[in-house]
Amino acid sequence: MSNTPTDCCADPGQKLLSVEQGRKRILAAVSAIEATEQLHLRAALGRILCEPVVARIDVPPFANSAMDGYAVRSEDCPDSGAVTLEIIGSAFAGAPFAERVGAGQCVRIMTGAVLPDGADTVLMQEHVSREQGQIRCEHRAVQQGQNVRYAGEDTRRGDTVLPAGRRLGAAELGLLASVGVAEVCVTRKLRVAFFSTGDELASAGTPLVRGQIYDSNRYALFGMLSRPEIECYDLGVIPDRREAVRTAFREAAAMADMVLTTGGVSVGEADYVTETLGELGEISFWRMAMKPGKPLAFGHVGNAVFFGLPGNPVSVMATFYQFVLPAIRKMTGQQALEPLMIQARSSQNLKKAPGRMEFQRGILQRGSDGQWQVSTTGLQGSHLLSSMSRANCFILLPAEDAGATEGDLVTVQPFQDFST
Ligand code: AMP
Ligand code: MG
Repeated sequence: MSNTPTDCCADPGQKLLSVEQGRKRILAAVSAIEATEQLHLRAALGRILCEPVVARIDVPPFANSAMDGYAVRSEDCPDSGAVTLEIIGSAFAGAPFAERVGAGQCVRIMTGAVLPDGADTVLMQEHVSREQGQIRCEHRAVQQGQNVRYAGEDTRRGDTVLPAGRRLGAAELGLLASVGVAEVCVTRKLRVAFFSTGDELASAGTPLVRGQIYDSNRYALFGMLSRPEIECYDLGVIPDRREAVRTAFREAAAMADMVLTTGGVSVGEADYVTETLGELGEISFWRMAMKPGKPLAFGHVGNAVFFGLPGNPVSVMATFYQFVLPAIRKMTGQQALEPLMIQARSSQNLKKAPGRMEFQRGILQRGSDGQWQVSTTGLQGSHLLSSMSRANCFILLPAEDAGATEGDLVTVQPFQDFST
């Protein structure tokens, strides 16, 4: 522990840290939590698998019919002319036909029914004509194995069905059920405690006194943290007083794997986060080469990973998605850590000054040519939270660039990726 923050960037004259470098340092400094829990499938929805799941059966477990029709021996089917086959029984899904199909015979079969012994092919019912106890099969080409779904075609016994680190979505729950797995081992929920700092903050639902603003960060944070793999704890608004900030940190660090705060990380006179953290943990204060979101504190408080996010609401969301979410992904054992980035054509000129990477709020849509194009939401101040709500992506303008020109390809991060 040190009394002064171990910083690279508290001094405003010091170099800015790039977003990429910041994310790298953060990912190197956090590790996956080890605690796991065993859950029934439904309770595991959205959670992160902590060990690979290996199939103990073939899926499908037996060869079966892909169609309603007739199970036949392909060798009985004619190369020319027609043949009649005697129907000796029926096979329904869940009710197999018990005997063997012999020469000149066939079995009425429904989709999903076990392919009877002796048969190797299913003729679609639309392709044969039925006369009393027989079917008449024209010489049309019958391919051996037609309309048969083979055992193990989807998953083979012994196959790894899902790797560790996979989030269990709808398809994964279905897949696990298909191999008969009823319980899975997942990473225990990551505990994240958060609070806002600032004497100017009033909570929604109370009247505003002159000089106050409503605390929006705690609500946006609650929204961003409400994920199946997270248990979040809202510790409220902490006033800008040394003792209150210190107590809040102690309490948060004792209950959580990760502590998040907003506000108080710049160099204002009432910014006690900086000071308190030097006493309670090991924290770096970084000046990020990004806009919005220049000041960022990162480190440890007690055993918890700590992020001191800026105060302005858009900066909070931008830094959360660039730095906190990748850390959450790593700590919960997920594999894809970095935000998804795609290219889109800018439908306007985008202004910026060289120096910091900008995360402009964008609206991504398909142009008349079917290609992705993106435009900004308009004014880009870090206090304009409405811009986040209107947007469906960030437009990333590299630090060194002086903007983009209409028609340029620019990199965007769709917000949708942030929900996984
Ligand atoms: P700070 O970093 O504490 O100086 O805050 C920077 C700006 O963000 C100031 O204009 C604050 O009023 C504003 N701010 C800080 N915390 C919040 C919050 N929880 N909700 C809305 N705005 C905030
Ligand atoms: Mg403040």
